[in-house]
Amino acid sequence: MTFESLGLHSSIIKALTDAGYTKPTGVQEQAIPAAIEGRDLLVSSQTGSGKTAAFMLPALHKFASEQQVAATSNTPNQEMQASRARGERPRFKPAQPKMLVLTPTRELALQVTTATDKYGSQMKRIKAISILGGMPHPKQMQLLSKNPEILVATPGRLIDHMESGKIDFSQLQILVLDEADRMLDMGFIDDIEKIVDATPETRQTMLFSATLDGVVGNMAKRITKNPMIIQIAGSATKHENIQQKVHFVDDLSHKNRLLDHLLRDVTMDQAVVFTATKRDADTIADRLNIAGFAAAALHGDMHQGARNRTLDSLRRGQVRVLVATDVAARGIDVPGITHVFNYDLPKFPEDYVHRIGRTGRAGRNGVAVSLVNHAEGINVKRIERFTKQLIPVDIIEGFEPKRSASAPRSNHKPGGWKPGDNRGGPNKPGRSFSKPGAPRKEGGAGGGYKGNRSNDSGARGSFGDR
Ligand code: AMP
Repeated sequence: MTFESLGLHSSIIKALTDAGYTKPTGVQEQAIPAAIEGRDLLVSSQTGSGKTAAFMLPALHKFASEQQVAATSNTPNQEMQASRARGERPRFKPAQPKMLVLTPTRELALQVTTATDKYGSQMKRIKAISILGGMPHPKQMQLLSKNPEILVATPGRLIDHMESGKIDFSQLQILVLDEADRMLDMGFIDDIEKIVDATPETRQTMLFSATLDGVVGNMAKRITKNPMIIQIAGSATKHENIQQKVHFVDDLSHKNRLLDHLLRDVTMDQAVVFTATKRDADTIADRLNIAGFAAAALHGDMHQGARNRTLDSLRRGQVRVLVATDVAARGIDVPGITHVFNYDLPKFPEDYVHRIGRTGRAGRNGVAVSLVNHAEGINVKRIERFTKQLIPVDIIEGFEPKRSASAPRSNHKPGGWKPGDNRGGPNKPGRSFSKPGAPRKEGGAGGGYKGNRSNDSGARGSFGDR
């Protein structure tokens, strides 16, 4: 199948050729024709499957077809200029976007906006902007005053602008919920419902999510009309191009030594190391820098400017090891990432799939290694059940765990998980890289680390961006 055969506008085909795309991915093959027809879509597909183009290409196609008509009509922006020319005091006209894409994180929003610029590069006028928490207000007002056709937004900041009358959704044609499961996990349900209520009933709705079950499914039913359901279970979802491994570790010292060793793998270009907490992301990045790796932390406590700078350095290859929390790392699309390390396992198996999907982008191969305490065998099993794939246990000479890897994995009882288990015992020995008495990067009661950890590593504790 080709992009031409999907019936896309010639300007879009040109942009795709320039981008080096030769044929549509599985999700694009199914979603694009249905979306061009105007159908609502419920799509279960993973990041890395080409889902952004699956919703953005048909939208751009629609706008390209409408462009001639739009060129002859006055946009509110032109009216504003005319009123200025008449010497009238300019009034702020609310932006009237035609398309809204909601994303859970700022990084994903920026990525969608960049992809849109790429796909729409050959169209005469198509403006996509990001509306994000953390971006200065005057800058956002300036972007909105351009009356962009496409808004890509995180829900919280969008609501602020809606409530202050800066955005009017009466002309909205297309609503996309990207990574809807994650937005619900992050507690955005009320914001999403409020935003959906502000959009016209006549809109086309496309919802993308790792899962379409449970709460996501219920919301999807409420906000879509006769949707076409697309379930993509291809190799991108199974991550068949990613070699997955588990290394069992005895304690933190063992884990840190092993991580150092693995990061020296000559086949490694760039890596993401996932931690459960923001504090650990900072501490481990500092420690790796001291050990000579070009490392940087990425987490939700950092200002947006610092996050963007870190991501730019990663894209330029100046940062080789990114130490990140789940929320901050969601949506990172850097082709040079050859390895993903789970320093801590994620709480939810879905997050495991998202994490390892940071490598093996756009058809490349990747390696995903989980460093797992013996007591976490049950969590590895949960991930294996979810992905329907066994993750082989690997042992490196000189880094063998003292206990045999298979025994705790198969004998472990679900009730056996205890807070702090994955930290190598109550005294957490051998956190080899934290210098005694070194100042903490983040505040926290009671010396922070231990108390925080107990909470973090509990099976029901939150493993988000904390
Ligand atoms: P996404 O799932 O939208 O985050 O896309 C994952 C990666 O695949 C991005 O780097 C896209 O630029 C790339 N991509 C999307 N569609 C195609 C395609 N048809 N051919 C080649 N690469 C693609």
